[in-house]
Amino acid sequence: MTRIDESAHRKKVYAAYKAHGICVICKRRRARKNRTKCPECARAHALYMRARYDDFQAEAAEAGLCVKCRKRPSKPNRKRCHTCLRRQCKADVRMLSKNPEACTRCHRRSPAKNYKECAACLKYKRLYKTFSATRKKEMAQANYRRSGQRRRRLFDER
Ligand SMILES: [Zn+2]
Ligand SMILES: [Zn+2]
Ligand SMILES: [Zn+2]
Repeated sequence: MTRIDESAHRKKVYAAYKAHGICVICKRRRARKNRTKCPECARAHALYMRARYDDFQAEAAEAGLCVKCRKRPSKPNRKRCHTCLRRQCKADVRMLSKNPEACTRCHRRSPAKNYKECAACLKYKRLYKTFSATRKKEMAQANYRRSGQRRRRLFDER
């Protein structure tokens, strides 16, 4: 199969699973209502995206680039560039002026008792912390396995 055939085929398969309400990732479990993935795969995907985002950020920081736009150099002793810092600052001010008592993380929900952040943000942060280490390890292993498969596939095709 050529590259184009393959992507068209993949799209067709994706649409078929989606139409039948089956998870497009594992192709076994039922997808959540009006979604394309089952709860397990959705969670794994969210964690994967987060880990990938972290990797990008780490890479940018190492290169001395802003972790937000990853284009402009970051300000000395800061992780972001002047433009992104200013943009974030303005957004924060806007949100805070709308709701000065809101959670300091999402600026939307009201904070939990004795906390500056809302229950949802606290929960997320706690969850993220707990899983961060194990996930990174898993991701590294998965990446390694995947690149191995890719190498093998390329080798077979030749
Ligand atoms: Zn699934
Ligand atoms: Zn920036
Ligand atoms: Zn919040």
